[in-house]
Amino acid sequence: MFRPGAIVLALLLAGCHTQAPEEVIDRGSYQADVSRTALGMDQRIRFVVLHYTAENDADSLRILTQEAVSAHYLIPSRPDVKRGKPVALQLVPESRRAWHAGASFWQGRTNLNDTSLGIEIVNAGPRDDDWAPFSDAQIDLVIALLKDVTARYNIPPQNVLGHMDVAPGRKKDPGPAFPWRRLAQAGVGAWPDEAAVQRYQAGRPDDMPVNIARLQQKLARYGYNIGVNGVNDDASRAAIAAFQMHFRPADYRGNADAGSEAIIDALLEKYGGRE
Ligand SMILES: [Zn+2]
Repeated sequence: MFRPGAIVLALLLAGCHTQAPEEVIDRGSYQADVSRTALGMDQRIRFVVLHYTAENDADSLRILTQEAVSAHYLIPSRPDVKRGKPVALQLVPESRRAWHAGASFWQGRTNLNDTSLGIEIVNAGPRDDDWAPFSDAQIDLVIALLKDVTARYNIPPQNVLGHMDVAPGRKKDPGPAFPWRRLAQAGVGAWPDEAAVQRYQAGRPDDMPVNIARLQQKLARYGYNIGVNGVNDDASRAAIAAFQMHFRPADYRGNADAGSEAIIDALLEKYGGRE
């Protein structure tokens, strides 16, 4: 039997469907209407945390693909080149949490696995009396990767961190051999302006002792987990040493000195800090 009503209904449904097929998504047992979007949202990924593996390539890959620890990216000791470009190993999708930071802190946030991408770099770490170097090929690849992810997630320079920065005392990676200055020259990560450091240092020698509470307060403002108690105890010394490994690797004994204070002053001037 001919039923005009059924044809009109079918045309209407077809019309709705072609107007905005993406606005209602079939999720199996229910539908999700995605036609309206809130303004109140921000990026879940806010930090990048860099590590060395302290293992060779084979062991690094084996450990990072088992169940205990993981990272979003692994940089091999000698990255493959495919189609003329170096290859980073992506082990965890960026939308998923990787287990790389552990107990951690930056700028009042804890458990940075929730809000960071983790990059592991194959590197032996501490040796008898020095630190294993990172290769140019590794650093070039790290720079390319960081340029990409910091742009995609709008991550500010001062949120590109080492594991040591977010877990001082417990972790030393990527350590004082990691070339943060070179990264900054390539446009990734934080680095103070040399003229500002000189101005703040005001002729004081690098190793001249400074007011401990004042230095602690400045490091805390920048992001470090450091108590302001005026005593350079083990925890304070570990945080200062992490800062020095990052920004003044020639001396990372953890002393509260004028060179460190000038650097943190210049960083706070350039990037601001928590009040
Ligand atoms: Zn680490």
